[in-house]
Amino acid sequence: MTGDVLARLKDAAGPKGFSEDPLEIAPHVEEWRGTYQGRTPLLLKPAMTEEVSRILAICHETSTPIVPQGGNTGLVGGQIPLGNEVLLSLARLNRVRAVDGPGAHLIAEAGVVLAAVHAAADAVGLMFPLSLASEGSCTIGGNLSTNAGGVNVLRYGMARALVLGLEVVLADGRVLDLLRTLHKDNTGYDLKQLFVGAEGTLGVITAAALKLFPRPAEVVTAFATVRDPAAAVALLTRLQAETGGLIAAYELIARSGLDLVLAHIPDTADPLAAPAPWYVLVEATGGAKFPLKQVVEEALGEAMTDALVGDAVIAESQAQRAALWRLRESLSEAQKKEGASLKHDVSVPVTAIPDFLARAITAVLKIVPDARPVPFGHLGDGNIHFNFSAPKGADGRAFAARRGDVARIVHDIVRDFAGSMSAEHGIGIMKRDELLRYKSATEIDLMRALKHTLDPKNILNPGKILASP
Ligand SMILES: Cc1cc2nc3c(=O)[nH]c(=O)nc-3n(C[C@H](O)[C@H](O)[C@H](O)COP(=O)(O)OP(=O)(O)OC[C@H]3O[C@@H](n4cnc5c(N)ncnc54)[C@H](O)[C@@H]3O)c2cc1C
Repeated sequence: MTGDVLARLKDAAGPKGFSEDPLEIAPHVEEWRGTYQGRTPLLLKPAMTEEVSRILAICHETSTPIVPQGGNTGLVGGQIPLGNEVLLSLARLNRVRAVDGPGAHLIAEAGVVLAAVHAAADAVGLMFPLSLASEGSCTIGGNLSTNAGGVNVLRYGMARALVLGLEVVLADGRVLDLLRTLHKDNTGYDLKQLFVGAEGTLGVITAAALKLFPRPAEVVTAFATVRDPAAAVALLTRLQAETGGLIAAYELIARSGLDLVLAHIPDTADPLAAPAPWYVLVEATGGAKFPLKQVVEEALGEAMTDALVGDAVIAESQAQRAALWRLRESLSEAQKKEGASLKHDVSVPVTAIPDFLARAITAVLKIVPDARPVPFGHLGDGNIHFNFSAPKGADGRAFAARRGDVARIVHDIVRDFAGSMSAEHGIGIMKRDELLRYKSATEIDLMRALKHTLDPKNILNPGKILASP
């Protein structure tokens, strides 16, 4: 990368649109878990789509590699420049361009933080249902580029299902305006979906039209002990049947995870009297005229009679609801504070979760006998964060060094259940080699063909998802 190219890029980004200050760059080149440490000669911070367009045109012309970044909360290293690429932060594209209450959509630029999208929807009495523990920092551009999931997928789908239109800057700098707000549009290939989940390898998202939904008048949040994961699946089926499909979130938590939260996260308390090996956090939402609380209470009562549920509590106030959610949302942070861990973001068909957990826990303990299983996650959509913490007092580095062996065992079992080895976090650099093992040659060929068509010079986030284009 010559000084001339860097000077042209700075010029394209404008006087406030770049930084070479190591102190400013530092937080952008380290990821949340500390797994990847990158470096870059230049941080670009454009504030307008036209600036992104000019930057990419220069990168294309000069074959300069560039890594897009939103809130830097990605968990697979996709947003980190690991080959000294230029770093493109979208954080200053942070305007909500329009909010249409009656039309139930809004248009937000890529750098708008997810919590700010929630606030903009709330201001017109609506909601945007994508909800992640990182929502105070992650951006809508990053959410779409990773096809983020979170806790409401069961009811509302993943980020992919929440987007009506996109504005994308292509690798050569052309602006692709797909910012439509139609629910139905069958005019050929649905190009916007190519860029959702592409992790910045096919184009740079600069704005998105997002679907909004009625804000539920009634929210019922319950925390219950379940006999085992099979009971958790059975309870979900019952609750969906009894409420007519009004379960928005359904999270499984192992006692080991709750213990870590209670140990490391201040102001948390066990909501139930006696400990149990498994818990579910359930949230049902609906309109004011449906007796939702009564229906959920009765369903939980019947489940107790049938020994699926041992004990349960229903939040009676917003504060209690927040306290229950805090237990769930703090699991990643608590596990981080506990020390070294091995993590797997996997999905299997919902009904296969009990068998998957039993088989995969046994298989991992066979090779790392004192690892502590801490599985939790979005049981309602089949996504388990199948995690292990290092044994107490163990050498964290030696434990972390087992990552490859353990992942191979877990992911092979996931394949046996026709599951996915990356349910919601993506591929980035972390799972790049795994992708080749678990995708068919035909799928990999098509992915390479798409990459070549949209980014023939391989400048966009090179080496992420696919090692070689
Ligand atoms: C505590 C915690 C909890 C989390 N919980 C969840 C969860 O429940 N579900 C879930 O799915 N994820 C979760 N995540 C992961 C992460 O928050 C999501 O992947 C999120 O969508 C990333 O958004 P971001 O803005 O931080 O993107 P970044 O981390 O900055 O980037 C992620 C990827 O998208 C690309 N990218 C970013 N912006 C753009 C753009 N505008 N155009 C093109 N490419 C772009 C980057 O190059 C990179 O490959 C969690 C993370 C943390 C730290």
